[in-house]
Amino acid sequence: MTRHRRRPNSDEDDRPPICPACGVTMMLTVGDDGELHYSCLECGYPDGDG
Ligand SMILES: [Zn+2]
Repeated sequence: MTRHRRRPNSDEDDRPPICPACGVTMMLTVGDDGELHYSCLECGYPDGDG
């Protein structure tokens, strides 16, 4: 049973991603589906390819 949720080497990142285009920290925005998604406020770079 693993109770540690914060591991140094994990795909799950607590910190927001960085825009690969601008290099700025992406912000959480509400998408059309009402869910939170990370997106760049500078260029609107979407997080993930879907
Ligand atoms: Zn950007």
